[in-house]
Amino acid sequence: MTTAEFTVQRSWKSDRRSPLLWLWSHIRRNWIWIFGVFFGALANALLAGAPAVLAGQAFDTLLADPSSTTFLLRTAFLIAITQITRGLLQVARNFSAELIGQRLERDTRDEMYGSLMGKSMQFHDSHPAGDLMARATNDVREMNLMFNPGLNLVVGSASFLLVPLIAAPRINPWLVLAPIAYLLLYIIETWRYLRELNPATRSVREEFGNMNTTLAEAIDGIETVKGAAQELRETDRFRRSLATWRTAFIWQGDIEAKFIHLLLLGLVQTAALALSLFLYERGQISVGDVVTYNGLMLLFGFPTFVGQFAYSQVSSGLSSARRVLEIIDEKTALDENVGGYDQPMRGALVFDNVTFSYAGMPTLENVSFSVQPGQTIAIVGQTGAGKSTVAKLINRIYDVNSGRVLVDGVDVRDWDLAALRRQISIIEQDIFLFSRSVSDNIAFGCQDADRDEVEAAAHKAQAHEFILNFRDGYETEIGERGVTLSGGQRQRLALARAFLTDPQILILDDSTSAIDSATEDRIQRAIEEASRGRTTILITHRLSQIRWADQIVVLKKGRIAAIGTHEDLLQQSEAYRNIFASYE
Ligand code: ADP
Repeated sequence: MTTAEFTVQRSWKSDRRSPLLWLWSHIRRNWIWIFGVFFGALANALLAGAPAVLAGQAFDTLLADPSSTTFLLRTAFLIAITQITRGLLQVARNFSAELIGQRLERDTRDEMYGSLMGKSMQFHDSHPAGDLMARATNDVREMNLMFNPGLNLVVGSASFLLVPLIAAPRINPWLVLAPIAYLLLYIIETWRYLRELNPATRSVREEFGNMNTTLAEAIDGIETVKGAAQELRETDRFRRSLATWRTAFIWQGDIEAKFIHLLLLGLVQTAALALSLFLYERGQISVGDVVTYNGLMLLFGFPTFVGQFAYSQVSSGLSSARRVLEIIDEKTALDENVGGYDQPMRGALVFDNVTFSYAGMPTLENVSFSVQPGQTIAIVGQTGAGKSTVAKLINRIYDVNSGRVLVDGVDVRDWDLAALRRQISIIEQDIFLFSRSVSDNIAFGCQDADRDEVEAAAHKAQAHEFILNFRDGYETEIGERGVTLSGGQRQRLALARAFLTDPQILILDDSTSAIDSATEDRIQRAIEEASRGRTTILITHRLSQIRWADQIVVLKKGRIAAIGTHEDLLQQSEAYRNIFASYE
């Protein structure tokens, strides 16, 4: 099993063995900027320690000789220089971190989108769009924030932890005790904090995904919601998912509130003051040393203050990375089979003893039939008999459980997937149009078609006239920002799409929609035109279309009840007569 039905070629490849390795494989490509972050952070911390050291020296000098004002001026000047340099380095460091964060967001979102496009229908059937959207937008954004400000502050504050550790023993070896004690406490506490925080941030991310799913479904199904007057109940459902999300947030907040580093710092700073005064009393260090040392201890304030926020951000980002990687890395049952059979299609189709079930629910059993190139076959049966499923097995939206589907004598699983799908067109019951122009929608499967080709296809599909009636003709926007189309118009646009891609096998799934007879007549003509010269599979209730099929397959509860021409079946098949009667 692989992770995609198709893959996007990129100059980089990510390491998907674990969320951490995955993040690192994205981040490490920016190694120059990583250097910028580390160098900036370390230099910043060292320079932040400078005022304490300089002030200590000034104290000692002034205590020895109160008239040495030039020394004081020199100290002030040095402090100014070090702090201006520090400011400039901060800019460079924050720039580097922001750049890495933004690139991380861009690249991981790109990777996720490519991966979503490549996932099989089984995958998309079982993942709500709202949750995928939450992962592709919000979680990817969290990963950016994890790097900056999250990790940027972690690296920055870690450098602040080091400076007192390096500088203190240079004054007196005993003075290293307080920084060491704080560092140990800091590490232990942070480890505990992260361990408690991780499940909470994970839960916040998950609940956000669930909330988004509820929202997306209600908006997607708004017509049904309104039609059934269920607005109040849907609002209630949404409120409930908001409440669950809120509970997860409170859990996270509760843990964040128990970030006791600040308390520990207060205790250690008190101990440090006592220790330095004790050493001063015994004459082992000077007043200046006391000032420097306690000034250095103040550096711990930064990692302590930002820790709570920065580690939460890192924890959220890691939870998000896990969620995004989970999707990217999910295996799909189909693979793109590059290097498989890739020849111009003739259009011969064979179902050889095919059995198929959706997640354990038997849908087709021992279905066998064959179609010659150029023939038209109609598949009829009650709703739920498995007609659409037959269509979906031909271009490998799903794979059979047993038996074989052969196109031109080659098992569809041995075809190069792109070559197979390129040469088969399915016009679904539920025709999807993008919020783009009419012309872009027609040219969807054949993006380099010019205007003349698009119009010719629309003519053949009997769509040209109604398109010209739109205000901007072929440039009219469809969907959210533009016109909405009737069922019959959608179907003809889909047919125009099919004319343009010129497939060898055309599948028309048209079990729905009552259409007025004038439109029906036009669609009938368009379909006749479309079926010329190619294998056509019609899934339809329209008797006018069924009648002239070369062959009719009658499906009943996933099994073939009869096969033959209209006349044969009328005589021989009870099931067909029943269906025929119910259609009339
Ligand atoms: P028809 O086109 O004849 O109305 P379908 O092929 O759409 O029938 O469906 C056959 C059966 O398979 C139905 O019982 C339907 O509920 C089920 N089914 C269809 N699509 C799916 C799916 N994606 N996941 C699970 N079950 C499905």
